[in-house]
Amino acid sequence: MRKKTITGAFLCIAAALTVFSSCSESKSAQEHKKDVFAMDTYMSLKVYGENGKEALDAAEKEIQRLEGLFSVTDGKSDVSRINLQGSAQVSEDTAELITAALGYCKETDVALDITVYPLLKEWGFTAGEYHIPDDAVIDGLLSSVGYDGVTVSDSTVTVRKGGAVDLGAVAKGYTGDRICSLLKEKGIASALLNLGGNVQAVGKKPDGSPWRVGIEHPRDAGRVVCTLSVEDKAVVTSGDYERYFIGEDGRRYCHIIDPETGRPADSGLISVTVIGASGVECDALSTALFVMGRERAESFLQTHGNIDAVLIDRDMKIYMTEGAVACAEMSGEYENTVIKRQ
Ligand code: AMP
Ligand code: MG
Repeated sequence: MRKKTITGAFLCIAAALTVFSSCSESKSAQEHKKDVFAMDTYMSLKVYGENGKEALDAAEKEIQRLEGLFSVTDGKSDVSRINLQGSAQVSEDTAELITAALGYCKETDVALDITVYPLLKEWGFTAGEYHIPDDAVIDGLLSSVGYDGVTVSDSTVTVRKGGAVDLGAVAKGYTGDRICSLLKEKGIASALLNLGGNVQAVGKKPDGSPWRVGIEHPRDAGRVVCTLSVEDKAVVTSGDYERYFIGEDGRRYCHIIDPETGRPADSGLISVTVIGASGVECDALSTALFVMGRERAESFLQTHGNIDAVLIDRDMKIYMTEGAVACAEMSGEYENTVIKRQ
């Protein structure tokens, strides 16, 4: 019989990434800031330029609109209607995001699967009532999981009986992309968004230097492992320290589910950061590479030269693509291996 009691549960809503920027740059362009709580996380938006305030107000409205579509708990959202009814007509954004996400499920050989929701619920990650389910319960729920049970036809999304969709792995990345486009439309050339650990940069800092984004130490909150210099990029981290509980068996169970086993991913990686041009792609792939583990993630990266990555394993060994090495400044002594692409 498996032990079911938990000894502790943790939710780190604070950003998984730390954003650094000096204030001196604001002399040349006016700085505007806004903090928003949405999608179950804190978001901080910082924009520079004359239209800054108006752009930030529009960005906040857009975040709230998208949250209203993608929320898995708001009964009126597109996602909830799909899950409650089995089939629903949805907005353009929801259809677009689900279509993109299904593509990533396929591309990652089901390390990503947007239908793991019944398992997340059973493990208690949706309500914070954590427990370790019996094997038979997990096996039963696995039969309702599978992205191939989701179809998008025009604006109608259908999910197989007993199945449910959860866009938690991709929604913040999609939202970040939308906000970056909106800000650019409003004439903003310099902005930094931190959507609960998903950092997205518009252009460079107003002084022309790159934005600096820190990757947090996965076992020492507040400490930074390395700092990346980026411009016009998304930097997205998935980690086992963001939302997890410690079971009575002393093991850590995190909120990222391995769709093959139905259990929290235990791949040996504890933090995965993906750097690239598309927020939704970085978001999907950081979750997927976390599930894959180092070897599978490295071979995936061989064929995906458009993204860079920083992988940290449970021994705090760090593996970085050459592009990540080129923009990283390490903050400490770590065993560091370069992932070379042929
Ligand atoms: P992220 O923080 O982007 O890595 O996404 C983690 C969130 O995605 C979880 O809180 C779940 O809502 C959802 N999720 C967990 N495991 C998976 C998975 N294997 N595929 C897709 N979504 C997942
Ligand atoms: Mg993700």
